Amino acid sequence: MEGTPKRARWYQSSVASSLRVLVTGGAGYIGSHTARLLAEEGFSPFVLDDLGRGHREAARFGQLIVGDVGDAALVARVVRDHRIEAAVHFAAFAYVGESVRDPGLYWTNNTVKSLALVDALVGAGVRDVVFSSTCATYGDPRSLPLREDHPQAPVNAYGASKLAVEHILRSYGVAHGLRWMALRYFNAAGAHPDGTMGERHDPETHLVPLAIEAALGRARPLEIFGTDYDTPDGTALRDYVHVLDLADAHVRALRHLAQGGASGALNLGTGRGHSVREIVSAVEGVVGKPVPHTFGPRRAGDPPALVADPTNARTTLGWTPQYTDLRAIIETAARWHRRGA
Ligand code: UDP
Repeated sequence: MEGTPKRARWYQSSVASSLRVLVTGGAGYIGSHTARLLAEEGFSPFVLDDLGRGHREAARFGQLIVGDVGDAALVARVVRDHRIEAAVHFAAFAYVGESVRDPGLYWTNNTVKSLALVDALVGAGVRDVVFSSTCATYGDPRSLPLREDHPQAPVNAYGASKLAVEHILRSYGVAHGLRWMALRYFNAAGAHPDGTMGERHDPETHLVPLAIEAALGRARPLEIFGTDYDTPDGTALRDYVHVLDLADAHVRALRHLAQGGASGALNLGTGRGHSVREIVSAVEGVVGKPVPHTFGPRRAGDPPALVADPTNARTTLGWTPQYTDLRAIIETAARWHRRGA
């Protein structure tokens, strides 16, 4: 794919850590952890977020610009005023169920606005973009663990809206020299270990926070969706990857692009699957209380198992998840929830 002239490489390598980076969606869960890590690593993050679903208090790493990523004039102005050199694009809606009920919202918010953003970035001279993609672009797995060359046949509008952005990036790479990385996350989980930031969605639909809140007596009993899957204990398997490991992969992807590395898509997961029941017992072990729960039917659109083959992220970015123990991931999340998130 697109390369970088040799002459520029040593220079880009030496400046990679001080890049001025636009972080769209930097007030959200993964975006805020990444903005923080970028700042800690010596980059200059500039957060662009409309605060529609993000939280102002989470966007405290780098300057916050409140606005819409689909506003091309705004993006061009931000790039110019702040001399932006690269972008990490998180801003998106990410509820599978909502995307099934209201696909237009997802096509508009995730795809149409991303097209406007990418076009404005390229027009303003930004060439390096790291994109927040998802394992939902694969659809129902034909084989596990999932490799990046597995067919992409999303089964919901969320996955489809993200896959379309991968196509946009690829075509802009061919036509305009855009250098891009699409990072396909599996199940983001956990919180910053210092307990000051973590996962907060409204409404919350994700397993780990719901199980913790139920154990703490602050939410209704957890409903386990489906006990008749063809898995060892009948509940669905997912690959839970710590949010700081995800943040680390973004920093590495920016450096990779700045150093002339090839564009492409990478899975971000640990390579291990955990069942819903395993999550429940890990939460019980960490919180020290039972997770009140009921059993319900399968949730529409949920594949039985989603597990990454993360080999390519290791070989391309030198990325290996530091949080390999499920309990350690849940401990960081529980610390955040105990603080009254
Ligand atoms: N899940 C569950 N009860 C809930 C929420 C989720 O049993 O209240 C299950 C869900 O069916 C899936 C796993 O937990 O198998 C992870 O779901 P989550 O919504 O956290 O992430 P997703 O896999 O949808 O990205």
